[in-house]
Amino acid sequence: MTGWASAQTATSGCGRFAPSPSSRLHLGNLRTALLSWLFARTSGRGFAVRIEDLDTARSKPEMADRHLAELAALGLDWDGPVVWQSARGDAYAAAIDRLTAAGLTYECFCTRREIAEAASAPHAPPGAYPGTCRDLPAAERERRRAAGRRPALRLRARTATLTVDDAVAGPYTGTVDDLVLRRGDGTVAYNLAVVVDDAAAGIDQVVRGDDLLPSTPRQVHLAHLLELPVPRFCHVPLVLGPRGRRLSKRDGAVTLEDLVAAGTDAGAVRTLLAVSLGLADPGEAVSPAELLARFDPHRLPTTPWVYRPAPAGSDRPVR
Ligand code: GLU
Repeated sequence: MTGWASAQTATSGCGRFAPSPSSRLHLGNLRTALLSWLFARTSGRGFAVRIEDLDTARSKPEMADRHLAELAALGLDWDGPVVWQSARGDAYAAAIDRLTAAGLTYECFCTRREIAEAASAPHAPPGAYPGTCRDLPAAERERRRAAGRRPALRLRARTATLTVDDAVAGPYTGTVDDLVLRRGDGTVAYNLAVVVDDAAAGIDQVVRGDDLLPSTPRQVHLAHLLELPVPRFCHVPLVLGPRGRRLSKRDGAVTLEDLVAAGTDAGAVRTLLAVSLGLADPGEAVSPAELLARFDPHRLPTTPWVYRPAPAGSDRPVR
């Protein structure tokens, strides 16, 4: 079965929303949060929230607190404690050890520049690591370590492509390369953490922005190698700004805080998101419970939502 509704197979599993606390949630993120909550709750699943704060240089704890407060203000509830990736280092280390014990990792000394140069060579699969360090002799690795280079750890991938059956996109074939598992500075890579965390939390339904669709074959390959279950994926279109590009801060009042400051309360923002999903009429007050009752994945819009923020001086977003 394909189409949005195929993500809905009844189960006792769990859906989730997993924001990165490096920047504010904009309407696109909030709409994805609402959708993932609706998909989970209307299919009898639990719903979990995970804070993806592995990038310590960019993550801010107070930003995560704001994300949680904003989800609650929209009326989204979640089960169990919030999972913070920064507290899950042992689980990631265990997964990396398992891959290493199976001969599925190697050290990579390449700089970003070397990778960019090699990846732009003719015939290189787009965006794929070309495997430069895959078969470095031990003595050469030793020499580079002694010279002070801190290696990243990469996966020795067993396939170059993989097809994922996405609930919205249908069958999607994408590149799998020797992705980074742990960066040279010790930071665990998102692709590994997300696979380990979804499995540990019993997540069997992943509703997220379709900018992550190209990463999904890599994640599914990792799940296969770690013998972890693969969730049902449902990649939803991003929200576009008035210029037809991905919504961003440059487009004006696009966060809940901006909108509240301009006089649109959280309930009205819920309405705005619901209208974009065909679940409410403009200006109609809708409770989270009413949205659950109205939600029908067969009737979700299939084209991206173009959001037009209010012109300066106006207190209303333009719908
Ligand atoms: N943390 C990612 C983001 O905010 C989402 C990851 C995921 O949903 O798998 O874009």
